[in-house]
Amino acid sequence: MDIKAPRGVRDILPEESWKWSYVLKVTAETMADFNYAEMHLPLFEHTELFSRGVGEATDIVEKEMYTFLDRGSRSITLRPEATAGMVRAALEHGLCSPGTAARLWCWGPMFRYERPQKGRYRQFYQIDAECLGLPGPMADVEIVALSVEIFRRLGLKNLEVVLNSVGCPACRPLYRRALLEHFSRHKERLCATCLGRMERNPLRILDCKQTDCGLIADEAPSVHDHLCDECRDHFQEVQEGLERLGFAYHLDKRLVRGLDYYTKTAYEILSGDLGAQNAVCGGGRYDNLAESIGGPSLPGVGFAAGLDRIVLVMEQQGCSFGRSPQTQVYVVAQDPEARAATQVLAHELRRNRVSAEQDSGNRSFKAQMKAAGASGAAWVCILGPEELQKDLVTLKNLETGEQASLPKAELIERLRQN
Ligand code: AMP
Repeated sequence: MDIKAPRGVRDILPEESWKWSYVLKVTAETMADFNYAEMHLPLFEHTELFSRGVGEATDIVEKEMYTFLDRGSRSITLRPEATAGMVRAALEHGLCSPGTAARLWCWGPMFRYERPQKGRYRQFYQIDAECLGLPGPMADVEIVALSVEIFRRLGLKNLEVVLNSVGCPACRPLYRRALLEHFSRHKERLCATCLGRMERNPLRILDCKQTDCGLIADEAPSVHDHLCDECRDHFQEVQEGLERLGFAYHLDKRLVRGLDYYTKTAYEILSGDLGAQNAVCGGGRYDNLAESIGGPSLPGVGFAAGLDRIVLVMEQQGCSFGRSPQTQVYVVAQDPEARAATQVLAHELRRNRVSAEQDSGNRSFKAQMKAAGASGAAWVCILGPEELQKDLVTLKNLETGEQASLPKAELIERLRQN
């Protein structure tokens, strides 16, 4: 076949998809314990939501969005991230009236035109949680705690929480100026991308991965020396809160994140087992996002965790995904006359929550038994002329070879107990 999936997207096949279901089940339980309610949001939005929300001068908006005109000539974008859509939905439906909090989560595909590599795709999946309406540091601590708790329940090891503050519109201009001064002095050693960032977004130079830019960024003035009193106190209280909960974290003055909407807290959770794409989760506070998309003032803090990468790390670390789905029973017909009865029996078993597979070809009894053995089922149910006449089913244990003929009700009871 000459049609293949586009570059950077992948099919999640049955051998992997059950692991995703497990991760999402554990996530949903953890979200419920933290009182976060699930939302389902559209996969596409008006382009403006992201250009205004995420920020014009970000890599995402400048070069990574899937944007197109729809048939009504409206500019539409496949969502590159979930926070802007979540805040849009919360404002549109009045989910967070002044003085209250809304705790929301969602999961699903995001789309970015990035260079694909292991752990980086053009359609990837995020688990996203947002705590809206609370300006204080306890909400930041709650969000970090929620993400860490999901990873703890999944059994992930070797993770590192990295924390920073990116200031706010009151203190950032001063910091920006200090950075510009520093980077201007080393202009000739910056990479072409960072030269472009000088004017538009000098903070982004701080997390450039090029060696020279990295060395210059290491020497750059620290954001911690430029925070206003409010941001400094907030940052301090977030750290104290994390310590109270017993979380280990690192401060990294170069952590800035790729989205413009962050204010104050920014954090990432890194895995020692992921290579270059080592972030499993990123988040922080975004007190001005709601206003930048035309809403009222609404503080928020949240995170996005990469589902593809979570599963990748769990596989590498040999974490458990619970029980893999497996057919319990394989139903076979001893001769063609019993075929119709096998479908009735399989359906009855399924209605009673026994997972059953029924041979769907017109194969010989021997071939059906062979298929039953290969299916991984623990039991075979056999229907032949004798069983039909006596209204019984022969149940065979594929491991021990033991078999017995039973009435249907007894059979179902026996299988339900297994
Ligand atoms: P971000 O929205 O860029 O802060 O990313 C949050 C998390 O989503 C990251 O920590 C990754 O785990 C995941 N992620 C981001 N971009 C990709 C991608 N292109 N492919 C796979 N996972 C991604």
